[in-house]
Amino acid sequence: MSPRPPALPAKLHPLVRGFLDTPGAAAAAVHRFGSPAHLLFPQVFADNLQRLQGVLDAQLRRYRICYAHKANRSRALLRRAEHAGIAVDAASPQELAAAVGAGFTADRIEVTGPKGETFLRQLVGSGVTVNVDNLWELHRIAELARGHTRVPVLLRVSGFPAAAVSRFGVPLAEVEAALTLLAEQRAWIAFRGFAFHLDSGELGERVAAVQECLALVERAYARELSPSVLDIGGGFRQVFTADADLFDGYVAALRESLRGRGEPMAWGGNTFGFHLDDTGVHGTPVFHKYANTVPATGMLADLLAAPLDAHGSRTVAQVVAENLLDVWLEPGKALVDHAGITVARVEFVKRAADGSVLVHVDLSRDTVTPADQEVMVDPLLLPGPGAPASGGDPVGVFFAGRLCLERDLITAHKVWLPYCPCPGDLVVFPNTAAYHMDLSAASASMHPLPPKLAVIHHDGGYRVCRDLDYEPAAGMAEADRALPGGRL
Ligand SMILES: *Cc1c(COP(=O)(O)O)cnc(C)c1O
Repeated sequence: MSPRPPALPAKLHPLVRGFLDTPGAAAAAVHRFGSPAHLLFPQVFADNLQRLQGVLDAQLRRYRICYAHKANRSRALLRRAEHAGIAVDAASPQELAAAVGAGFTADRIEVTGPKGETFLRQLVGSGVTVNVDNLWELHRIAELARGHTRVPVLLRVSGFPAAAVSRFGVPLAEVEAALTLLAEQRAWIAFRGFAFHLDSGELGERVAAVQECLALVERAYARELSPSVLDIGGGFRQVFTADADLFDGYVAALRESLRGRGEPMAWGGNTFGFHLDDTGVHGTPVFHKYANTVPATGMLADLLAAPLDAHGSRTVAQVVAENLLDVWLEPGKALVDHAGITVARVEFVKRAADGSVLVHVDLSRDTVTPADQEVMVDPLLLPGPGAPASGGDPVGVFFAGRLCLERDLITAHKVWLPYCPCPGDLVVFPNTAAYHMDLSAASASMHPLPPKLAVIHHDGGYRVCRDLDYEPAAGMAEADRALPGGRL
């Protein structure tokens, strides 16, 4: 018997697993709405939200979750967030319009990111909270706000010790100038508090940022400003892999193959961000996020329980409570984690000159991942009429996209499938909701963007509708809680 081929099994939410295990369910969806398609699971979003709320409820009395809409354009997920009563973080005029259209009122909307003149003019007087990125923005808000109601603002700060330099936020060294302006312009600007957002998974960096912001709160009090919010941003991680050991085993085999040992596993000289020299394979690969095993809830719990040196080792949760600060969070990927999959159809299978097997599907790389990243969970093959009745032999393949471009490989690393697919078989790309389906998606070669569909688990079965048509019905809240197979 040959050894088991390297594998990258994807973690699946029980609701998604249940849908994929329902014979014909995915096939019926693409038959009705077309292939390829993005499928979204609003109930998984609700489940992620409940688990984050569980962590927060255990440690904090006052908090607000702002769903970072930019993770996914789905209206269904936005409606689910609105229905759940949380707030939203919009990062463009279009996202703001979508949020308003989904029912969010101004008091539940925060706007982040870089904003130009036109957007600022729109925001002033609207009542939404502006998370200010820079001093130009703050000056412009003060000027534009004359004659309007006071503009609620948060001040985003950056440049914390030991953190990577960020293009966003007001550097700590400029906060003094910002506080002066906020104090002078208090008639027009209602200063709500400080904000940061870190991409890093490092607990220490977030703790340091919290500590800096708490010191800034003191400085703001000294100016007779009254900040009441500490916005800790997003950046809470996803867990993609179902088996960390298998993941590590795959990466070890890939590294060996890059050194020319064992079976070739990389398409066309790809090195995935590794650096190769005579001594071996070094550095951090582009796909390092797939190695994460700490869920968002764990990261959040660790942050809230972290002791603060400057506060006699009292925890973050204790110190914010003592200072009567509301903690705001802006999770994007943590809320949509496992809440989306992308389904494609196999068009044909061919062999390249070097013997590689290429499985061509009817979507392109940008439909399932930002181009610079490599998807390190195995696509799932849904057995169709052509599937071998008794197992079949594993085959190592590369997935190729529909664009007439050499680079349109969906996987540049080899994927082992349980059998060689046939035209018409369906392929599922797991966990694509967070930045995968929308961030780089383009209509290259005039291919239309895939439709978005919402999948709802109801009465023991699954219903599929257009993403735009999804409504969290009054009775759905109960169905949300009745998940098959328990919680993740
Ligand atoms: C993108 C973004 C988020 C969401 O980040 P995630 O990593 O998806 O949680 C939150 N806040 C700001 C300011 C952002 O730019």
